[in-house]
Amino acid sequence: MKKTGVFYHDICGKEAYSSLAMGVADGFKGIEKAGLFSRPNITHYESRPATEEEIARIHTRKWIEEVKRTQWWRVSLYSIGGVLEATEKVLRGELDNALVIAGVGGHHAHRDSAWGGCYFSVTGLAIPHAREHFKARRFAIVDTDTHHADGVRDIFKDDDEVLHICFCHGYGWDEDPDSLTTNETKMCFSHGHNDASEIENVRREVPERVKKFKPDMLFWIMGMDTHQDSYGTQALTEKAYPAMAEIIKDTAEQSCGGKLIVKTCCNAPPHATSYALPGIVNILAEID
Ligand SMILES: [Zn+2]
Ligand SMILES: [Zn+2]
Repeated sequence: MKKTGVFYHDICGKEAYSSLAMGVADGFKGIEKAGLFSRPNITHYESRPATEEEIARIHTRKWIEEVKRTQWWRVSLYSIGGVLEATEKVLRGELDNALVIAGVGGHHAHRDSAWGGCYFSVTGLAIPHAREHFKARRFAIVDTDTHHADGVRDIFKDDDEVLHICFCHGYGWDEDPDSLTTNETKMCFSHGHNDASEIENVRREVPERVKKFKPDMLFWIMGMDTHQDSYGTQALTEKAYPAMAEIIKDTAEQSCGGKLIVKTCCNAPPHATSYALPGIVNILAEID
C-alpha cells in the first residue's frame, strides 16, 4: 500500500472553467462515493492557495496583474496551490504520490500569456518550487491531453533537467516556434485512436525514456479531453485512464522511488471523471 493524497478545494469545482473542465466536482465526489477516504492510506487535503511570489517564479508581474482582473484568478490560485502542496508532501516523504484536481488547465500557459482555459503553468510551477525548497533537480512531465503543451514546452525549452513527453500530434500545434522545440529531453508523439492504441503508445514511449532520464519526480498531466464524450480526440472510454495510470505509476516506481503527481482538470463529462478518478486513486494507493 502507498500513502496517497488527493488535493482538491471546493473552489476548484465551483469556479471551474466549466465549458472545459466540466467534470471537476463530480470527479472528486466519485472518489468520496467509492469510500476511498475511509482507507487509512488515502487522505483528502484541501488545496491551499498559491501565493503571488510562487507564481512569479515563472510568470511575469504584468501577466499576473492581468489574470487578477478575471474571474479565473481565485480558481487558478487553488489549482496551483494543490500542485505545490502535493509536491512538498511527496518530496518530504509524507506521501508516496498524489492526485491533484484542478479547476483550470495549465499547459497552454506561457510566461506572459495563455489560452484554452489556462492562465498559469499549474504543473510547471512545481518545478522551481521544488528546486527552491528541496534537493530535487530533475523532473519528468508526461502529458496525455489531446493538445500540444505549448506553454510547458516554451517555459522549459532550455532546461535539460526537464524531460517533457507530450502526446499531441495532429492536435493544436501552436505557431509560437518556442513551443515546437524538440530534442533529447523534449518530444511529442501521436495519440491513439482507441483505448488499446492510446495505452500502447504510452507504454511504448514513456517508461524506458523516463527510466533512462532518472528524474527526482514524475508529473502526469492527465487531460481528459481525449474521452469520447469530450471535445478532443474523442477516442477513449473512461477505462483508458486507470490503465494509463498503471503504466505511469510503474514508471515512477522504477525511476524515482514512486514519486508521482497526477494533475487533472477533469476536462470530460461527469460520467467519465466520476469513473476514472476513483480508479486512478485505487492504483496510486495500491488498493485491490
Ligand atoms: Zn486539451
Ligand atoms: Zn506536443
